[in-house]
Amino acid sequence: MAMKKYVPEPFRIKMVETIKMTTSEERDVAIKKAHYNLFNLASEDCYIDLLTDSGTNAMSHNQWAGIMRGDEAYGGSSSFYKLVNTAKNMFNYDYIQPVHQGRAAEKVLFPLLLEKGKVAISNMFFDTTRAHVELAGARAIDCVVEEAKDPSDRKKFKGNMDVKKLEEAILEHGPEKVGLVVMTVTNNSAGGQPVSIENMQAVAAICRKYHIHLNIDAARQAENAYFIKRDEEAYKDHSIKEIVRLMFETGDTFTMSAKKDGIVNMGGLLGVKDEEKFSELIFKIKANTISFEGFISYGGLSGRDMESLAIGLEEALEEDYLDYRVGQMEYLASLLDDVGIKYQSPVGGHGVFIDAKAMFPHIPYNEFPGQVLAIELYKEAGIRTCDIGSYMLGNDPDTKEQLEADFEFTRLAIPRRVYTQAHLDIMAEALIAIQKRAATIKQGYKITWEPPILRHFQAHLEPL
Ligand SMILES: *Cc1c(COP(=O)(O)O)cnc(C)c1O
Repeated sequence: MAMKKYVPEPFRIKMVETIKMTTSEERDVAIKKAHYNLFNLASEDCYIDLLTDSGTNAMSHNQWAGIMRGDEAYGGSSSFYKLVNTAKNMFNYDYIQPVHQGRAAEKVLFPLLLEKGKVAISNMFFDTTRAHVELAGARAIDCVVEEAKDPSDRKKFKGNMDVKKLEEAILEHGPEKVGLVVMTVTNNSAGGQPVSIENMQAVAAICRKYHIHLNIDAARQAENAYFIKRDEEAYKDHSIKEIVRLMFETGDTFTMSAKKDGIVNMGGLLGVKDEEKFSELIFKIKANTISFEGFISYGGLSGRDMESLAIGLEEALEEDYLDYRVGQMEYLASLLDDVGIKYQSPVGGHGVFIDAKAMFPHIPYNEFPGQVLAIELYKEAGIRTCDIGSYMLGNDPDTKEQLEADFEFTRLAIPRRVYTQAHLDIMAEALIAIQKRAATIKQGYKITWEPPILRHFQAHLEPL
């Protein structure tokens, strides 16, 4: 396959941040001290930090100017109104509640729709989203399309919900037991894979048929809209803004981590489409927000955070930016194609998810191949990534047995507007070096300590 040309940055650099170069010996000490958990590393010890694209974005000069304009009033600040009006207009929703990050929106909303004995169904739950379903006492079911589970299957829209499976799951549990359907766009856990408008509309129709609440988990709405415009024939002449409105029209509510496509470092939103129909729900959302997040006109955010988020939401929908953004993923993926390194393909919107199972076929799921590759990338080049596989998935909440994930990925999440073409080249070189010695890495890791929920953030590991 021909190498993809790098899409040049539609911006220039005004401020720089020095990063430390480390030696291989220093990294061996640091990773051991971190109990082989990359979340425990000091960022100073990482040369290229791809742990997440969440909150690691570079803001624009306009956003930084917004920081200075932030209105820090407790009640009714102008920055609150600016954010709410921007979001209402962008998504065409009646009610917008700022919160401090995505999981805060989940914490506010999910207990209002779920309880013990209920289930929630998604194309794929993100880890905190699954955790908030379980914290509300309910159980989480994934119904992603089958092709998502085959990293080499290059079908478009591999983030889609399998609508047949969705309907079967609804009938199996009984519609009255399904408290919530969650459409995650893009589908983070499946590799930042997009969801088509056609699929979002089909899911909305099923939810209407069975009177089930549909929430959009909209962390990466801009990247999803870009893929729709590029790959869904019926929408190629629509603007990104029009596509975003069509996507959001399918939901009753949305929860959003603005730390992704809000291009800020902290923030989240919760939206309700129809103020009249959901007046009771909005009343309860306000009550929960005040208890958990702060007064409704700031929801755990500073005025300056709300001001910069209002600007970031707009910048994320600029087509030149999205061409460059997704172009970075495609460039890195094309370097891997050249040498046969497998990843979730076609490449998604916010990172390259390396197929660690393919790189280490001899390492079983309960020795965490995705974590093995993450540790090797750190040792090789100071690149910090994370496992998206059985290590992240954790144990069955009922039986406490280690679950086997559908895939074992190591995620290279690319922060927005942060790294250059040369950094991407270093990522590819490190992966190639590891692939060459993959057979000499005989065993994985075992967990020596873990907390009961969201264990991958804190667990301690040891090489076997
Ligand atoms: C990041 C993310 C969340 C949680 O958001 P936070 O801001 O990290 O709390 C929820 N869903 C998806 C799909 C995400 O990517």
